[in-house]
Amino acid sequence: MTAAATNQKVCPECNAPITVHPDFVSWCEQCNWNLQPIKSEHKANAIEKIYLALGKKQSSVLFERFAKQESLQSKLTIGKIIAFLIATIVFGLMGALIVLGVILVLSRTFIVPLISIPLGLACFGLVWLMRPRFSKPPQNILTQEDAPTLYKVVSKIAKELNADVPEIAVDGKFNASMGKYTWRQREIMTIGFSLWVILTHEERVALLGHELAHSANNDPFRSIYIRIAFDALITWYWLVKPAAIYDPATGFWGILYMPFVLFMYLLAGIAWLGAFALIHLLWRDKQRAEYLADNLASSVSGTEAVTTMLKKLPVSHSLAMALQRFVLNKRWREGSLFEFLKEQAVSVPETEIKRLVRLEQQEGSRLDVTHPPIALRIKMLQEQRYIETPQIGISPEEWAQVEDELGAIEGKVQEKLVDWFRASRGF
Ligand SMILES: [Zn+2]
Ligand SMILES: [Zn+2]
Repeated sequence: MTAAATNQKVCPECNAPITVHPDFVSWCEQCNWNLQPIKSEHKANAIEKIYLALGKKQSSVLFERFAKQESLQSKLTIGKIIAFLIATIVFGLMGALIVLGVILVLSRTFIVPLISIPLGLACFGLVWLMRPRFSKPPQNILTQEDAPTLYKVVSKIAKELNADVPEIAVDGKFNASMGKYTWRQREIMTIGFSLWVILTHEERVALLGHELAHSANNDPFRSIYIRIAFDALITWYWLVKPAAIYDPATGFWGILYMPFVLFMYLLAGIAWLGAFALIHLLWRDKQRAEYLADNLASSVSGTEAVTTMLKKLPVSHSLAMALQRFVLNKRWREGSLFEFLKEQAVSVPETEIKRLVRLEQQEGSRLDVTHPPIALRIKMLQEQRYIETPQIGISPEEWAQVEDELGAIEGKVQEKLVDWFRASRGF
């Protein structure tokens, strides 16, 4: 990623020299002048806001603590025990509602059946609304026949990390992810094409290594018990939260009704508190898991490849704008979207990468609020033992085959991405 600098200028704030690249933002490395000329439009949702608030206060404190630790492996902490207990209470409450429902429906002598049966059914209804919901599997899942070499590459890395080989899916995203889907908990790794194409072979090993490390450490699985409880609490919150304490349209009855409304507020508050506590308690463990995944990735790809891969995450994301312009100008008909991305990525100068990484550390610019800032992830790698030689050797022929296998599905992924860009013109 190099481009010829055409000009030098001086920072208006601190007089430090600034290298100017005509197509990129001029900014000052010394004092962060003009680091973010256009403020990000992304509005965080309620859960992202909690993550951001936690990250702002604790990212660097946690970094210091983890950097001093001998190992990043998971440990049993009080926070985890409390989170487990909260989740168990939620499941207990759901169980109690079922029992209450059965008693109400069956014990006709207990209360008049006309009231008890509907009440009992309402209990079942509540549990039904709070039931576990499993994510649908991603589209474009590749079978072993579709992509035998890609599966072979993934198996090699998985074996080295003691991970199971997941199913592999591809989409157009600027990211990759590992997740469990459906009630059967199918483990599926999704590779985002927009990121994949701008990575070198070694960086691809690093990316796959990071995702497979999550699977080896059981990160997605460990959270399922908690996640179901968390989802149930959020549903509970939306179900019982009243729209307002008093609605003038209801007149006198509205006033009589107020104690009941306040009671509903209290119930909603309890649910919100429970959900907030769960995120809070597990946030630290999630951060640790990310640092550990980077660490394990470097054991298969070498430290250098993980570092450069991490630097490309914000680059890939910043190219989204250029990609959208490309799509809206209908230029994609002439050439592949992903070829265009590749060309763009090589022209990004080192100063721009540095700016994007530094910007990403700031609140509101975070690509993925659940991961530690990229700058800290890179710093953590520097604190650890430098691994020079990659453990995994994949031949150029194998990579060429992977390219062919993925090339077969590229058109489909591109179409989806084009549709998405068109649908979100305001993006
Ligand atoms: Zn400056
Ligand atoms: Zn991760």
